[in-house]
Amino acid sequence: MTDSSSIPTVKLLINGEFVESQTTEWRDVINPATQEVLAQVPFATEQEMNAAVAAAKEAFKTWRKTPIGARARIFLKYQQLIRENMKELAAILTAEQGKTLPDAEGDVFRGLEVVEHAAGIGNLQLGELANNVANGVDTYTVLQPLGVCAGITPFNFPAMIPLWMFPMAIATGNTFILKPSEQDPMVTMRLAELAIEAGIPKGVLNVIHGGADAVNLICDHPDIKAVSFVGSTKVGTLVYNRATANGKRAQCMMGAKNHAIVLPDAHRQQTLNNLAGAAFGAAGQRCMALSVVVLVGEAQTWLPELIEKARTLKVNAGVEPNTDVGPVISCAALDRVSGLIARGAEEGATLELDGRNPDVSAYGKGNFVGPTIFSGVTPEMAIYREEVFGPVLCVMQADSLKDAVELINANPNGNGTALFTRSGAAARYFQEEIDIGQVGINVPIPVPVPTFSFTGSRASKLGDLGPYGKQVVQFYTQTKTITERWFDEDEVAGSVNTTITL
Ligand code: NAD
Repeated sequence: MTDSSSIPTVKLLINGEFVESQTTEWRDVINPATQEVLAQVPFATEQEMNAAVAAAKEAFKTWRKTPIGARARIFLKYQQLIRENMKELAAILTAEQGKTLPDAEGDVFRGLEVVEHAAGIGNLQLGELANNVANGVDTYTVLQPLGVCAGITPFNFPAMIPLWMFPMAIATGNTFILKPSEQDPMVTMRLAELAIEAGIPKGVLNVIHGGADAVNLICDHPDIKAVSFVGSTKVGTLVYNRATANGKRAQCMMGAKNHAIVLPDAHRQQTLNNLAGAAFGAAGQRCMALSVVVLVGEAQTWLPELIEKARTLKVNAGVEPNTDVGPVISCAALDRVSGLIARGAEEGATLELDGRNPDVSAYGKGNFVGPTIFSGVTPEMAIYREEVFGPVLCVMQADSLKDAVELINANPNGNGTALFTRSGAAARYFQEEIDIGQVGINVPIPVPVPTFSFTGSRASKLGDLGPYGKQVVQFYTQTKTITERWFDEDEVAGSVNTTITL
């Protein structure tokens, strides 16, 4: 941690107030292109975290009864404020996370779409009614909020992923504790400020900061009813096990190894452009990044062109115009990615394009690694087994679409995949046979819009219901089923009936 009192501190949000933490444990928030310390983030004390949960519990008493229209209008205002502050939000995001400014705007925009969806909550949180299920008896359901819910978010989408969580939880009548990534909490805090400005009442949204202790407190706290997590498979598995052992609902979206299949009949230029963008954009730090390409048959001859395209991508700080690939998040991430590239070469893959130590002279201290391509990759290699989370693409080969599908289905992860082809029959075979939760047909990063839900599968997800969209309305509510009968005034009391009838 840097010792300087002139550096701004990131605040906690407890009961509607942005407060300075009393902790003695602070972490630097660092610009990954320059190593400049932008702020210091506290690891909140147990007392502060308990105060946040207590505020959320108290606020729930009135928020759960707040009319649908009143809740919706806050999110209508909120989406307007996010739009008005888009440039500022993107600039904060780029400074602390590293991605390019257009990509940072995309990060905010994908979250904004969830806020817009939350503003339509009156159409989403609807029950059902069946008339005359027995003589004079009706049954109906209501979707009631759970209480205090919590969200734990990763570094790679510090705007979009917090916005996947608290708008839908709050719009459905819950109160919320958010624990952002300690690596880039500043844009998340700006979004929290705008949420308060939009009219979210005190205690309804609270933000705490920290690492494992904060996450463990969330998983253990008896007053927290549901936990949403997005991050690595290792931490997500811990969160899922601990939260569910404590009787909470949990949904954990985790790591990935996303494959694309390229058939020789695909649109060549469009496919190669899509592959390069999806593998190296955001420096490969997307959970839906394409990290493996399987070239089928004649498409194997496209490799030199793919390498040439990757070579033309510009590695530079995210604030610089025309940058394609910004820095990775931290020095530790740079070491890990560089180490995995070295290991790939040691294990026998062919290093077709080595992105280590790129020339970024104006930003000599940045955590830069450029587009890297391996061919001849086999499933036992570390670069294939591990999620590199950097701009590293593994190229593999298959003789047929069937073989390529078998390879993907044998990989434990199930986040996203894509097929590039002009054949409808091949596309239909692919979407039927592939065992992956999010499938793109000539779409490299098939993240669903908020009218649907994020539907990663297998080792990329724990819990049944995904974030945002229809599924998350189920996740953040308890269905109550009411069976109801009304007696006429002049109806005579019958005899006691001990059989189970209505
Ligand atoms: P991470 O798991 O290191 O951190 C996620 C959160 O967990 C952070 O808030 C962090 O503070 C907390 N945390 C870290 N270590 C912890 C520990 N030991 N105990 C308890 N909590 C801990 O993930 P990251 O590096 O921030 O993000 C990258 C990962 O997130 C990648 O694996 C990526 O695939 C995944 N991700 C998945 C999705 C998805 O939707 N499937 C989306 C984005 C990112």
